Amino acid sequence: MKKCPYCFETVEDHPPKCPHCAQFLLDEPIEVDYSGIDKKKCFFCGKKVLKEAKVCKFCHQWLDQVDHGASDFDQI
Ligand SMILES: [Zn+2]
Ligand SMILES: [Zn+2]
Repeated sequence: MKKCPYCFETVEDHPPKCPHCAQFLLDEPIEVDYSGIDKKKCFFCGKKVLKEAKVCKFCHQWLDQVDHGASDFDQI
């Protein structure tokens, strides 16, 4: 089973764009053999997405950007 590396939804073969999260699939879809039961809430739309997802398949926001603090910018 192949999954989108961004939203972790199942995709067929290697579409140019993920039909779920609308991200361009620059990398190959990843092989995952688990069904992804764990869910988390999207910070932006509040809908449930897969725990591993980096992009919300509903509102297409990047979920992992929220975790990065602004502290990186201070170290230049
Ligand atoms: Zn996707
Ligand atoms: Zn969302």
